Amino acid sequence: MPLQLVWFKRDVRLHDHAPLAAAARHGPVLGVYLFEPAVLGAPDADAQHLAFVVDCLAELRARLRRRGSELLLRTGDALEGLERLVQELPITALWAHEETGNAVTYARDRRVRAWARARGLPFHELPSGGVVRRLVTRDGWAEHWESVVRAPVVRPPTRFPPLPWADGATGALAPPPGEPPSAEALGVRAHAPRAHPRRGGERAAHALLASFLESRGADYRRAMSSPVTAFDTCSRLSPYLAFGALSGRQAWQAARRRGAELRATPDADERWRGSLQSFTARLAWRDHFIQKLESEPRIEHEPFSKAYASLRPADPDPERLAAWIEGRTGYPFVDACMRALRAEGWLNFRMRAMLVSFASYHLWLPWQATAVALAPHFLDYEPGIHYSQFQMQSGTTGINTVRIYNPYKQSREQDPTGAFIRRWVPELAAVSDDDVHAPHEMPGLMAQLSGLRLGRDYPYPVVDHAVAYTEAKARLYAVRQATAARAEARAVFERHGSRRRRLEDG
Ligand SMILES: Cc1cc2nc3c(=O)[nH]c(=O)nc-3n(C[C@H](O)[C@H](O)[C@H](O)COP(=O)(O)OP(=O)(O)OC[C@H]3O[C@@H](n4cnc5c(N)ncnc54)[C@H](O)[C@@H]3O)c2cc1C
Repeated sequence: MPLQLVWFKRDVRLHDHAPLAAAARHGPVLGVYLFEPAVLGAPDADAQHLAFVVDCLAELRARLRRRGSELLLRTGDALEGLERLVQELPITALWAHEETGNAVTYARDRRVRAWARARGLPFHELPSGGVVRRLVTRDGWAEHWESVVRAPVVRPPTRFPPLPWADGATGALAPPPGEPPSAEALGVRAHAPRAHPRRGGERAAHALLASFLESRGADYRRAMSSPVTAFDTCSRLSPYLAFGALSGRQAWQAARRRGAELRATPDADERWRGSLQSFTARLAWRDHFIQKLESEPRIEHEPFSKAYASLRPADPDPERLAAWIEGRTGYPFVDACMRALRAEGWLNFRMRAMLVSFASYHLWLPWQATAVALAPHFLDYEPGIHYSQFQMQSGTTGINTVRIYNPYKQSREQDPTGAFIRRWVPELAAVSDDDVHAPHEMPGLMAQLSGLRLGRDYPYPVVDHAVAYTEAKARLYAVRQATAARAEARAVFERHGSRRRRLEDG
């Protein structure tokens, strides 16, 4: 009996999985997940990614088995793994979602397509969410996206066609299911100890979605910007969306259902309206950003606008890079955010933007280096969002409003009492609410009273804010105002710009 092979990548779920459901209409289905050292051992990956996907796979395997299918786990080069399976088993078609990944997975997918063609093996790749392969124009993209999220969620078969070895009568031998490899075997690095590892899987994703929509998210629109409140108030769904334990469509439809329910509820909390709108808009941003990388894979390494190609040095200053990534810049709020991210594997949007703005403007580090350095610390690392956002926060898209965050202003606005700073920078525990944002400005007596020895317990600021800010702005605008940059900006907008201003400002 011919087998349909479904290759799970960043879509480790049973529900709303179009390739899985389509494959089942053609015969018995075997799933496979390939642990690739080239992907998981790369500098942008981390042991937390491996642990999370292993968790997702354990649940997925159990669910597939209950419905009469199986999930194989294999380790090694993807092409070799697939070739071996095709040699060993009567596989007649390969199914997968289109993946918009980094340069490594992009090259791997091209090789797999060429291999399947040469072998005469049909390889069906179906779109991931609203992202469009070989998109010609952004005109009409938002409408297309909406039609995708409004379409019904794809149901998995309640029972898959039986596998050839299921009844024992055919004489076919079941392949060994395989187990996840260790981090060491894959060459995966743990870049930092993580405080509260997240449980992977569809069940955990739906529980988080429910708690967000039922209670946590009421104040989302207002509370998302401060790290004091964001850890509880934001949905925290990003790792599940990034690894595909949850689809954007599932999240979007659940939010819309909740909106309808609240509209029918007398005396419903008014805050929900704006919060749900902000949430569903962000689910659209997700695909909007991924589309940029899908359309132009080079933006992982090159600026959207070529006018900015030599704005910053190609090689980062190693001392500045180390101070930034280790959370010891002498800017308490910046350091607190970085340390929180390193421990938790997550940080809210505004604080991510501030960290990158600080690296790109104050420290004048090339975004290519900081993007790779930060990626392992995001459990939700999603190349399409990551590289686009790094470029936006570094001023190299040419089409977005330039935002150079003032870390002291952010600190006073988002963490007025310094509670967040003190939690993550315990060296400053005894410093007053007022001084904790800029301890180097403390009068001598206050410093003595707090017991803080600047330069020993906690560093002096690595750069002077006013000087760095002024210099960065001058350098950036010198390029931005040049004729070549303006012409480039028009081309970038044509290719990538949102046609709906409400999506974002580019
Ligand atoms: C420099 C930088 C790098 C980033 N890198 C990533 C990344 O690698 N992976 C990632 O998922 N997000 C990234 N983001 C976007 C954003 O910070 C996270 O999606 C968000 O903080 C995740 O938390 P949440 O799930 O609670 O989001 P919520 O606020 O609850 O939003 C729901 C979902 O919408 C999507 N979303 C939210 N904000 C954005 C945004 N600004 N752009 C695109 N999609 C968005 C995410 O999928 C998110 O899970 C980055 C932002 C910046 C500034």
